[in-house]
This record gives sequence, C-alpha cells and structure tokens, in this order.
Amino acid sequence: MQLQDYIRNIPDFPRRGIQFKDITPLLKSPDAFNEAIDAFARYCAPRSIDLIAGIEARGFLLAAPLADRLEKPLVPVRKRGKLPFDTYSVSYALEYGEDSVEIHQDAVDAGQRVLVVDDLIATGGTVAATAKLMEKAGAAVDAVAVLVELVDLDGRAALKGYEVYSQIQI
Ligand code: AMP
Repeated sequence: MQLQDYIRNIPDFPRRGIQFKDITPLLKSPDAFNEAIDAFARYCAPRSIDLIAGIEARGFLLAAPLADRLEKPLVPVRKRGKLPFDTYSVSYALEYGEDSVEIHQDAVDAGQRVLVVDDLIATGGTVAATAKLMEKAGAAVDAVAVLVELVDLDGRAALKGYEVYSQIQI
C-alpha cells in the first residue's frame, strides 16, 4: 500500500502559495490508517519509549491510537491557553507573529523518554518547540515521528540532534 496516495494536495490553503497536505483520505480508509499506525508501532518496537506526546490538532489523531496500541501514556501538547491546570510553555516563531505549545506540569516525569508525534513537518518549528517543552519538563526526546515530511523545507535542520522518522517524504 502506498500511503502517499491517501494524502490529498490542496493548493493555496489556508493561504495563497501554501500547498496543504490533507490527511483526511487516509483517516477515511481503515486499511491506510491501520497501516500508518502499524508503521509507527514497528518503528517504536525496538526503542525505549515511555510516553507518546501528540501535537494539537492532527497529531492527536495519530498519537492517540499509537499510545493505545503500545499501551503507553498519552500527553496532549496544546496550543496557547487551552489547558486548565498549571502548564509549561515554549514559544516559537510563525511566519507572522508567534505561538506557544503547552503541557500540564504533571504530564511527564523527570527522565521519561518521549516520542513526539505530529502529522507533518514543514519548517520543523512546531516539533522543535515541542521537543524543548519536553526537556523543560525534565523528559528526554527519544524521537520525533510524523506521517509527512516536506523535504524541501528542511525541517530536519531545525531538529538537529533529534532522531526523526517520517513515513512519507514529499
Ligand atoms: P512547521 O512548524 O513549519 O513544521 O509546521 C508544522 C505544523 O503545521 C504541523 O502541525 C502541520 O499540521 C502544519 N502544517 C504546516 N504546513 C503544512 C502543510 N503544507 N500541510 C498541512 N499541514 C501543515
């Protein structure tokens, strides 16, 4: 099965010049979705991962079934202002302005090894901020795992020092 066939290109969304990679066809196909989660699980099998951190919002859709499959704790990484309890926060630059990623302060234990999951790496800024967030909370990033990597944007440059696994390189 070619998972890339289940990623739909939407030109000029959400802005002119951006080609949006839409994962809803993959989510709609039980076989493709199952294969994607299986591939993440196979990647994790030989690693020492204590918990799965999924980034709002599409990262949740992949991190949650993976955490369930691996029987590991799941930590939602949320955008600014969404979490109700005490938080750690890391800000990162957007094309215009900045945003923050946050977790609850009790979401991870010191020394735990985290797999950071999102749907896609573009510039790598979101995942890099999430990795810093895990470290701020005392955890270590075992690896980063995404469905899609936009190779031309060289997100790996922003993620130097981290192990990065992507299922589809476009
Ligand atoms: P970046 O921080 O530049 O690596 O952007 C990654 C985040 O933005 C991920 O959470 C993606 O869901 C989203 N994103 C960025 N570019 C795209 C794109 N071309 N298609 C779909 N999602 C994108």
